[in-house]
Amino acid sequence: MVTIRHFSPSITTGFVTSACKDSVRRHLAQFFRSRAAGWTLAALGVGALGVVGARLRATDQTPVQAQSTMRYSEFLSALRAGQVDSILIESGSALRGWTRNTSETNAAAVFRVEIGGVRHEQLLNAATAAQVGVAFAPPAADRSSVTNLVVTLVVTCGIGAVLFFGIGRQASSTAGSADVTSGRDATSRTTFTDVAGNAAAIADLREVVEFLREPKQFARMGAKVPKGILLEGPPGTGKTLMARALAGEAMTNFFATSGPDFSGMFVGVGTMRVKSLFKKARRAGGGVIFIDEIDSLGGKRGRQGGHQEDDRTLNQLLVEMDGFGASDGIIVVAATNRAAALDPALLRKGRFDRSVCVGLPSVDERAAILSLHASKRQMPLSSDVDMDRLARLMPGASGADLEGLLNEAAILAVRTDADTVAWSHLEEARDRVLLGRARTGFTVSGEERRLVALHEAGHALAGLVFCPADPLHKVTIQPRGAAMGVAYFQPDHEAHLHSRTSLEGQIRKGLGGRAAEELVFGPGRITSGASSDLQHTTRIAKEMVYRLGMGRSTGLMIFDPESGPVSGDVHSRMDADVRALLEEGYDEVLALFRDHRRALEALADALLDRETLTGAEAMHVLAAHGLGEGKAAA
Ligand code: ADP
Ligand code: ZN
Ligand code: MG
Repeated sequence: MVTIRHFSPSITTGFVTSACKDSVRRHLAQFFRSRAAGWTLAALGVGALGVVGARLRATDQTPVQAQSTMRYSEFLSALRAGQVDSILIESGSALRGWTRNTSETNAAAVFRVEIGGVRHEQLLNAATAAQVGVAFAPPAADRSSVTNLVVTLVVTCGIGAVLFFGIGRQASSTAGSADVTSGRDATSRTTFTDVAGNAAAIADLREVVEFLREPKQFARMGAKVPKGILLEGPPGTGKTLMARALAGEAMTNFFATSGPDFSGMFVGVGTMRVKSLFKKARRAGGGVIFIDEIDSLGGKRGRQGGHQEDDRTLNQLLVEMDGFGASDGIIVVAATNRAAALDPALLRKGRFDRSVCVGLPSVDERAAILSLHASKRQMPLSSDVDMDRLARLMPGASGADLEGLLNEAAILAVRTDADTVAWSHLEEARDRVLLGRARTGFTVSGEERRLVALHEAGHALAGLVFCPADPLHKVTIQPRGAAMGVAYFQPDHEAHLHSRTSLEGQIRKGLGGRAAEELVFGPGRITSGASSDLQHTTRIAKEMVYRLGMGRSTGLMIFDPESGPVSGDVHSRMDADVRALLEEGYDEVLALFRDHRRALEALADALLDRETLTGAEAMHVLAAHGLGEGKAAA
């Protein structure tokens, strides 16, 4: 079983060879983020000088800077739509293009596209087909060595200057690191129509649009206005998007910051940045101030360690929020995925007193998000594409995940030279997003392959019998990412409550892989492939006993850290209950497999033969080997 971020763990069961690298990446990201504040200024300095350098360079190279960047897939559709005038292939990995003059823009816009490993031939073909002019930029060595020298000098001096002044003056810097966009710019405005689902959150945000539009009116009437809104929910659910859309709807400014931006390396940096941010917002005539990851700043106080600095920054934020009035037209929107960890002072009246829950999208919302993004990108879809079905195949996915899925599918469609994005592209993209790309050069020995086939057949059979509510979508032994095989299940509906039977069923489904290995190859040959299955099933069993009051001997008593620790005796009984749940489940699976060993092995053989079977094909094999329709029917 592979655990993929927040995807509902009940859906896929796979055979894993190595641990997920996600956590490593997350740690790295955290590390960089913690330093990021300190480096921002340095980067700004170098960046500014770099720009000067680039300008100098640009004068003898290319007269214009790219105004925007485009994804390769977007570029191709623009090309097909006849929106591109000409392109300049700059280097192996980028091109610059000019759009056709349109009545709207009245001038050609310059854009840049990362083309990665796309071959020039392919580009030329596409461009010729679209009757677009192509030019190649001269190699970098042709550039004037004088400008190169100047650039090098400028950058070197820049770094020196930053080191000399920047660090010393950082504490007194007024550079709030907010990324500001003006919502008044009508063309690029994000509005609520860019958000699918999230109806409750949008309704709450809508209420403050009027106020942001006409703050003076509200002030004149002496109305008390909302100051802060807390958006609470998992990553990628559209919190940032909605805050931006709020500013867009109200045609006001948007200031984006994030909690970690405020924790500096020096005393006073955080408070300074908060002050300057609000000052900037006031000067600009108000707007939406968005603070992402507010929990990094406003966690519960009185923690151990040196968080005094963050406390001071938080206090400054509260002071600022108390200080602005209706006429300022400012609203602070904060986002967190750990609301429980927030300091209650933040949630008091007149601060973030409205909190809005932004959950993972339901199946209908997922379908709406998929359709919205497909139409926004003007994706040419084949007639076999069914967004409702795709939404059902992505339980637990966030809006960002779904957007990524569509993008992946578009890239695949381009790579396979297809005219439209077809269901097969979406299906392959889904597997990639969930598990990583298929590993073609990766060979599994005959012996190992047979073991994986049995393991997956075990998941499939156990799942069909013990989790009748989740039909089998497909089962495969194609190696992909860290998984050597997968059995996918596709729930028809999303359960909000989980019965004891369904939880026990999940445990059995998860143990099916290991049980099949043991039954056929014997206890000495069981493998490490079940490690994440066991992690997953143990987690469910623990949840049942420790939190849901479903333990055999401890029953309704649960473990609740808030009400104090349980006695050592209770603890060991709970552990024994967990173990019993797992072992009983395992025994039942083994018994099932003993009764239907022929069917199990036939399914494994079919996998060895065909690599991937759809749910229906798998059922067919099972039924042909004596597994009653009644038992396997989903
Ligand atoms: P969060 O701030 O909650 O982590 P983001 O707002 O950064 O999430 O979402 C990332 C991207 O995912 C958005 O830019 C948008 O393209 C897409 N997305 C997420 N949720 C939605 C949604 N409800 N409707 C449309 N797009 C969404
Ligand atoms: Zn498994
Ligand atoms: Mg975000």
